[in-house]
Amino acid sequence: MSNTAVTLQDIYLARRQIAVIARRTPVIRCPWLSELTGAAVHLKLESLQETGSFKLRGAANKLVSLTAEEQQRGVVAVSTGNHGRALSFAARELGIPAFVCLSEAVPANKVEAIKELGAEVVIHGRSYDEAADHAHRLQQERGLTFVEPFDDPYVIAGQGTIALELLEELPELDAAVVPLSGGGLISGIAMALKETNPAIRVIGVSMDRAPVMYHSLRAGRPIEMEELETLADALVGGIGRPNRYTFSMVQRYVDETVLVSEEEIAAGMAFAFENHELVVEGGGAVGIAALMQGKVQDLGRHVAVVVSGGNVNDELLRQIVGGGWRPAEDASASRR
Ligand SMILES: *Cc1c(COP(=O)(O)O)cnc(C)c1O
Repeated sequence: MSNTAVTLQDIYLARRQIAVIARRTPVIRCPWLSELTGAAVHLKLESLQETGSFKLRGAANKLVSLTAEEQQRGVVAVSTGNHGRALSFAARELGIPAFVCLSEAVPANKVEAIKELGAEVVIHGRSYDEAADHAHRLQQERGLTFVEPFDDPYVIAGQGTIALELLEELPELDAAVVPLSGGGLISGIAMALKETNPAIRVIGVSMDRAPVMYHSLRAGRPIEMEELETLADALVGGIGRPNRYTFSMVQRYVDETVLVSEEEIAAGMAFAFENHELVVEGGGAVGIAALMQGKVQDLGRHVAVVVSGGNVNDELLRQIVGGGWRPAEDASASRR
């Protein structure tokens, strides 16, 4: 039995509660990766999830768990990316006021994308941290609920619903390969898989540019690292200070963590586009990249690779597919 903050029961409950907001995503066979690895490789396409990433599952589950009064007051998050989109979408579906705080550094097109989904965008400060401070002020002043991108039991349970879908489609699953940043996605999936069948292996994949969870696991405690710019922009960022849930869940449930380089991520994105006509963002392609490079052993007979998101700029994808893309210098990322 589990004694963590999230139980298998929570994940089954999440599944019922978010069903009308977050859709069940397709699982497709990948003959090329199957041939390469000798395992039957299946891709779980969260890139086709509403809003373009799995983050909708966690955000929706958090919002449905709030009391009627909390829902009425509203929610707030800080995110330029998939979490902000997911929260905006789920809040609109549920009729909950949502505020997304962004810094002045965020490009206009990203601001528009979040506004279009219905959230009120609040621009404040010059950096992520200043925008976050402002979000916490709004939270205090207006009694809003702050929605964390990963370190929250309801968010983790929401992401874990992916595992229930996988187990139904692939009852003989031997291994799951999952993108890893703050660890909300892999914590939910790994807990649900392991509590159902402890023999299923779970492998986390991060980019080699500032992989905070990867190094935290090796240090035995959450650490901080300077952010670096990467193609896997959805994976940039720390694991929270303090980290309350995901670090210990990843420690307990994840078997192995591996890293992929910028070139390997680009190759994974190009592979998905060329072979499957799928638009996959950098963070979504790390699992494909890890298998292409033979970085994961002992896959067993049936492997699921979670393709976590598809929000990538057209021009960047065109360059990657056309072969005109080169990795940026190892510069510090100023944003996330
Ligand atoms: C957020 C995100 C991840 C990482 O999820 P964590 O819960 O932070 O580990 C992976 N891929 C995409 C596309 C994301 O948006």
